[in-house]
Amino acid sequence: MPKYVYFFGEGRADGNAQMKGMLGGKGANLAEMINLGIPVPPGFTISTEVCRYYYEHDKTYPPKLEEEVEKTLSELEKTIGARFGDAQNPLLVSVRSGAAVSMPGMMDTILNLGLNEETVKGLANRTEDERFAYDCYRRFVAMYGDVVLGLKPQEKDELDPFEEILAAKKKSRGVSYDHELSIQDLKELVHAFKEEIGKRRGVEFPEDPKEQLWGSIEAVIRSWENPRAIAYRELNAIPDDLGTALNVQAMVFGNMGRTSGTGVAFSRDPATGEDVFYGEYLLNAQGEDVVAGIRTPQPINRRQKGNKDIPSLEEEMPDVYHQLEEIRKTLDRHYRDMQDIEFTIQQGKLWMLQTRVGKRTGLAALRMAVDMVHEGLITKEEALLRVEPDQLNQVLRPIFDPQEKKRLISEGNLIAKGLNAGPGAATGKVVFSAPDAEEKASRREEVLLVRVETSPEDIRGMNAAQGILTARGGMTSHAALVARQMGKVCVVGCGALDIDYKTQEMKVNGHIVKQGDDLSIDGTTGEVILGRIPTRPSEIVQVLIEGSKPPEESEVYQYYAELMSWADRARRLGVHTNADKPDQARTALAFGAEGIGLCRTEHMFFEGDRIDAVREMILAEDSGGRETALAQLLPMQKEDFKGIFREMGERPVTIRTLDPPLHEFLPNTPGEIQELAKKMALSEDLLRAKIEALHESNPMLGHRGCRLGVVYPEITAMQARAIFEAACEIAREGVAVHPEVMIPLVGDVRELANQRRVVETAAQEVFSQYGMEVEYEVGTMIEVPRGALTADQVAREADFFSFGTNDITQTTYGISRDDAGKFLHSYLDANIWEFDPFEKLDRGGVGQLMDIAVKKGRTTRPDLKIGICGEHGGEPSSVEFCHQIGLDYVSCSPFRVPIARLAAAHAALKERQEN
Ligand code: PEP
Ligand code: MG
Repeated sequence: MPKYVYFFGEGRADGNAQMKGMLGGKGANLAEMINLGIPVPPGFTISTEVCRYYYEHDKTYPPKLEEEVEKTLSELEKTIGARFGDAQNPLLVSVRSGAAVSMPGMMDTILNLGLNEETVKGLANRTEDERFAYDCYRRFVAMYGDVVLGLKPQEKDELDPFEEILAAKKKSRGVSYDHELSIQDLKELVHAFKEEIGKRRGVEFPEDPKEQLWGSIEAVIRSWENPRAIAYRELNAIPDDLGTALNVQAMVFGNMGRTSGTGVAFSRDPATGEDVFYGEYLLNAQGEDVVAGIRTPQPINRRQKGNKDIPSLEEEMPDVYHQLEEIRKTLDRHYRDMQDIEFTIQQGKLWMLQTRVGKRTGLAALRMAVDMVHEGLITKEEALLRVEPDQLNQVLRPIFDPQEKKRLISEGNLIAKGLNAGPGAATGKVVFSAPDAEEKASRREEVLLVRVETSPEDIRGMNAAQGILTARGGMTSHAALVARQMGKVCVVGCGALDIDYKTQEMKVNGHIVKQGDDLSIDGTTGEVILGRIPTRPSEIVQVLIEGSKPPEESEVYQYYAELMSWADRARRLGVHTNADKPDQARTALAFGAEGIGLCRTEHMFFEGDRIDAVREMILAEDSGGRETALAQLLPMQKEDFKGIFREMGERPVTIRTLDPPLHEFLPNTPGEIQELAKKMALSEDLLRAKIEALHESNPMLGHRGCRLGVVYPEITAMQARAIFEAACEIAREGVAVHPEVMIPLVGDVRELANQRRVVETAAQEVFSQYGMEVEYEVGTMIEVPRGALTADQVAREADFFSFGTNDITQTTYGISRDDAGKFLHSYLDANIWEFDPFEKLDRGGVGQLMDIAVKKGRTTRPDLKIGICGEHGGEPSSVEFCHQIGLDYVSCSPFRVPIARLAAAHAALKERQEN
């Protein structure tokens, strides 16, 4: 018979950390802390099974649940020595959600449950603090009304009814703060709240604690399906059918005076990864106050407080601090990972409320992973898997141009400073709401989202913004946690911001900043600066690419280099780059590229005044005219190739023959047409007629790719000559060049055979002219379904394949790459697609074609070399798929090379784990 309810408390727990699937992360870790002898308020966990059952059985519970809850509740009462609903000594509990995967702040929580007109008096007597008791009571009634009875505001401009009543009460009493209200005021508030519930919902606030409990259980289970939680799961690819567990736990109070408090801490610094205790707390505060960002919290220790003039926990409560410091070490070593912990101090006694693996910046992930290997806590393989490939973006990300920043600051533009919650540099136009951020970002505008504080409703807008700036909250506020996870630049707790959502402007130390104004935030220092500051490369880029910083001076670089060396040992896939110019090749090499997987030759056609020769070639009357124009282009292309060969040395360089439809190179505007006509001594009419003749209804599926080379073989011949002449000349310099000529958009082996002959003829001519030979290969791109389906035939003529997944995605879906943007977001909104298939490889369709092509290609040619050079080649999930179907390498843009290296290592390690 399944067990639904798991007890924990007093040195005994039914569960442990391995049981996350059933108990959720929070429940499993509470049990584990009990097992480690750490003080945790007793309680029980209702398993995720109940949530799943509820949704699968028409919103009902398993029949045995009530009995199990009753039984465990009496065990809890015995442990605590207090009873549910007891007028003298009432047991009060919290009910919190806790899924297997952390979804911070997405679901609902109820605190102080068990209070009613009778038990509140009991609480007042026992604590000898009537004010405290009624303060708890009014909070509970409001929370119950919001969460269980659904009075929480749903729209951004709606107000919480209880907040409104509270504000009116304070106004009528002429006070500004909650704590200035009298006991009588609090009692009146309770009454007014209950009346409001009756008025709005037509129900009585339930006085029976059992009814309160079941109401709360149901509300928390239902919050699994609230729009915020659904949106969060969507963004983080969390399956909808996991369900949440619930934790019912005896209340401990952080708001019982100056010897009580509550806090959140990390076992290492979540921003930098340093092995130091990092946290924040508030004295005389309850549960959510720290995370909610309503008051700006105090630092946990002297180190963190620096020279700020506020006391730390270490100074205010040294004993508690030292006990907490011990617990942080125990948990950090036990879990062998950085922990995010919540604690409450009730009248000098420390209680742990939660431990979980903490969210971290990319920098912290990198540093902690490497440090923990050196500390002997984890293996190199584990360390690699601890850093998400995309997180590397954060350490490769730009910082502000220091000169420009200095200049703006010296001109008085540093208007405020907040907490440095998410490192990096962000600049953009100010918006004050998440929907505005989304809307502007969808029009490719760069925006900074500025809010008093953020809430889970804002996550889409936060995702769309370059950076996030808030007036309230600490390093563990919602804004800080979410931004860190998203890898966003973020500054929080910037108290100087006086934001007015109505007028869409904010006052900041005498300055007025309006919606749409340029603003810059430095997430590494917390600075808020008026104006736009150009950004500069990260330290790693300064070391690797610019050579402007010596490696020994950059800690970040050293961590990066060590982790990447492990990644290179772990991976099987090669990592090449897409580069069209020598400087791009150089950058990619510095990032660890092992070859060029795609050189798009047409990009070279736009350099300097080459476009004129290109246009002459296109507009030529016959092949003679075309050859004359091509003869001008040949030396230019040759120089480009020489530059690239020189950079790449012996590494393979895959050069693709001309791909785009010719009209892309022609002039568009009347002015351009006029000018070109003059240059070519043609009449404008004639030129226009020629341009018209090249027009295609559907150029993406028109005269492009190898079809150009088939119709105009002289173009392929010129490009091949340029490649081989460059190769011979560089080989003469003593470099063992390795050119590979790649024919695009092949759907029929005969297209490839045709182009291969042109290439081979050019090679032979060049070799006999130079009196030497270089090794080369001729291969093809697989970018139309027919090419994939007939790959066994295509492989007869191909030394290698490279998947052009941009085109094969386009041709498999039958969706134009150029036009997809117009309707793609609707597909994502309607959940027809979970992701953009042009960004992340569609394994089910496109992937199947790739798999077929790999298998068929290798039946003909078992040693066929196969890679990918579409945009997907630098996207971690796509890289994993390429590993799985047996590709030899991936090729991506230079800045994504490190990401691909790590993703390739992940793929190999995961495969090993599975076997
Ligand atoms: C592709 O189609 O995936 C590809 C790499 O070629 P292009 O993007 O140049 O069409
Ligand atoms: Mg293509």
